[in-house]
Amino acid sequence: MNYQEVLDEIYKEVLPFINEGKQADYIPALANINPDQIGMCLQTLDGKQYLVGDVEPRFSIQSISKVFSLAMALGVQGDKLWSRMGKEPSGAAFNSLIQLEIEKGKPRNPFINSGAIVMADILLSHFGCSKGNIDSALHNFLSFVHSISGCDTIDYNNEVAISERDNSYLNAAIVNLLKYHKNINNDIEDVLRFYFMTCSIEMNCKELSSAFVKFANHKKTFSYNGIVLTSSQVKRINAIMQTCGFYDEAGEFSYLVGLPGKSGVGGGIVAIYPQRYAVTVWSPRLNEKGNSVVGIKALELLTTRTKESIF
Ligand code: GLU
Repeated sequence: MNYQEVLDEIYKEVLPFINEGKQADYIPALANINPDQIGMCLQTLDGKQYLVGDVEPRFSIQSISKVFSLAMALGVQGDKLWSRMGKEPSGAAFNSLIQLEIEKGKPRNPFINSGAIVMADILLSHFGCSKGNIDSALHNFLSFVHSISGCDTIDYNNEVAISERDNSYLNAAIVNLLKYHKNINNDIEDVLRFYFMTCSIEMNCKELSSAFVKFANHKKTFSYNGIVLTSSQVKRINAIMQTCGFYDEAGEFSYLVGLPGKSGVGGGIVAIYPQRYAVTVWSPRLNEKGNSVVGIKALELLTTRTKESIF
């Protein structure tokens, strides 16, 4: 397959859509970036990268970080993790409170905010954090990202994390509801701070593809900064990406694209073709469900053109 030719064609075809949608502004620091950017990187299992557009600028990975959290939480807890959250699609917005209230503080899945906030709590406990000091969890999370991406200059963006904290009315409500139902063990301020920091990590298309190709290559040993997963566990993370990776648009993404993946409100989408490649598209303008307009379009074109999808 000539992926470079395919990517070049896709780039031309999605350009007319660059002005559709609106970049996230509920986290004010995210509103400051230039929305007129499109980058795409496809990395095959052998490490070869195919690139087009704005592949160098780092952007806020936001909810894409939830896949890293899941890998770490599953690594440290194994199946015990599922006593604290489910693995069913939510069909609701990522920050919805209604379902969490009805289901008595047990998040539907790890990729909605409530699930990720519980995983943040698990990691704080695992890394021995004490009230007011989350440094060891922050250090270990970043080291895991460095290790899986092969790039040790990736970092948090404190300004984005603080901007989110200053406007975190819904996430604050979520963590309180979780705490009320005894699904949070640590101090709620610490849990939120850690969660926002993980969302604020900045990576570019190349770095994300390099990290996610490890999920695509699930038959190979998965061991990064002390987090070890079996190939069966990695396969199951991919399954959750398939069913829960796109907020309440997971069905539509599955229908249009047919690959497991995860999006974030920074405009990034990463998708994987198991045993073949990981692909990242970034373009900041989002549709009303919070997914990159160009990102979905580009990936739909990719699997249509190549006739490669898991279906
Ligand atoms: N940090 C964001 C929030 O909790 C993540 C949103 C996202 O990318 O889905 O609202």
